[in-house]
Amino acid sequence: MTTLTNLTQERRLVTAIPGPKSIEALQRRSEATSGGLGIAIPVIIERASDAILLDIDGNQIIDLGSGIGVVNVGNSASRVVDRVIEQVQAFTHTCFTVAPYMNYIEVCEKLNKLTPGTHKKKSLLVNSGAEAVENAVKIARHFTKRPAIVVFEHSYHGRTNLTMALTAKNMPYKEGFGPFAPEVYRVPMPYSFHWVGNQATITEDAIEMITHKIDKEIGAHNVAAILIEPIQGEGGFIVPPKGFLPALSKYATDNGILFIADEVQTGFARTGHMFAVENENVVPDILVTAKGIAGGLPLAGITGRADVMDSVHTSGLGGTFGGNPLACAAALGAIETIEAENLVARAQHIGQILGDSLRALAKKYPVIGEVRGRGAMQAVELVEAGTKNPNTAAMNAVVKYCQSKGVLVLTAGTYSNVVRFLPPLVISDELLLDAMSVLDAAFASL
Ligand SMILES: *Cc1c(COP(=O)(O)O)cnc(C)c1O
Repeated sequence: MTTLTNLTQERRLVTAIPGPKSIEALQRRSEATSGGLGIAIPVIIERASDAILLDIDGNQIIDLGSGIGVVNVGNSASRVVDRVIEQVQAFTHTCFTVAPYMNYIEVCEKLNKLTPGTHKKKSLLVNSGAEAVENAVKIARHFTKRPAIVVFEHSYHGRTNLTMALTAKNMPYKEGFGPFAPEVYRVPMPYSFHWVGNQATITEDAIEMITHKIDKEIGAHNVAAILIEPIQGEGGFIVPPKGFLPALSKYATDNGILFIADEVQTGFARTGHMFAVENENVVPDILVTAKGIAGGLPLAGITGRADVMDSVHTSGLGGTFGGNPLACAAALGAIETIEAENLVARAQHIGQILGDSLRALAKKYPVIGEVRGRGAMQAVELVEAGTKNPNTAAMNAVVKYCQSKGVLVLTAGTYSNVVRFLPPLVISDELLLDAMSVLDAAFASL
């Protein structure tokens, strides 16, 4: 059914970046759109397929961002496109809480099955990651009848009022947008690269600090949920030390606190598991999904223990667009693609290539302080050589160089010094290696 022919999977520049047509269009962008919006690469996109973005000047750009970890199944994945076309011709909206339809139910069945744990689970669909996190918090408070939510340094959970409170970094996410929601408590994150304590006991020490803080400053019996990203995304791909998530989850369970995993960025095969908590066999009470769930259509999910999800009174949850039928059709296509093309294994393979390439660069360029991540979620933290001082200038220069050569990479980090890589999981080895050679040249150019 897909009519547009796929783009050749190769980088090709026919103009400078941005080209003349993009420059003109970006002028209209700044005239018409809010100045509060950022921009990663100064081009206008016309089409995209798999790991290639085509701009309106005819340049083919390698996509190492996946629209922030969204098109895990590739740009314009055929199973997603075909199912959406079929659905758009059938109907576009009824509102699931007005007149239900099947594909919402099918997405929830899939989520209940794919998320960790063999216990009975139920799901709810909404429109965005932030809305999903908000609903997880609402449900946790309702179920536990407790007010407090514990979150972490370097966390990112969204841009709505509650999720701004949950997010750690002030600039740009929170500056001037307060006051923020109450009953949110931030605890330390074992960020090993910047940990001043003993690396050998980082897990135990962090757990001790966190549980002491909860017990003494909040009171564990007041805490509804501990909310954490299994690998922190916007904070800079911070991977917690081994044993940390299991210990945290155990503390939560022992204290009647719900453990909520925000898998918005780590989910849907990204890290070489369907969900990142599987790496240490952690089974959350609630797991939040969005980004990679639906091949680019706006959808998010809250999946949790049936007793928790059912604790809310009828009509206590919902929303007009949540679980829109087009987005649900797309999600079924995306999940089918992950399974049929074994993208979990593919993410591990990408992680090998990416990790090897980045570690080789780290040997060559002392500006790379650390390489970290898991699967197809990898990053480099840039420093002033020989120190751990953040090197934002190097990050900006590397990103700009990559863009000018037709490679789209994203930034991250509390200290604005991380270059992160989130390629579509269908990217070919050749294309990935081509992008890595551009990255090598970018570091050489510093
Ligand atoms: C992106 C993100 C969110 C917010 O998702 P939106 O769809 O942008 O609202 C929440 N949590 C994490 C971990 C994210 O990466």
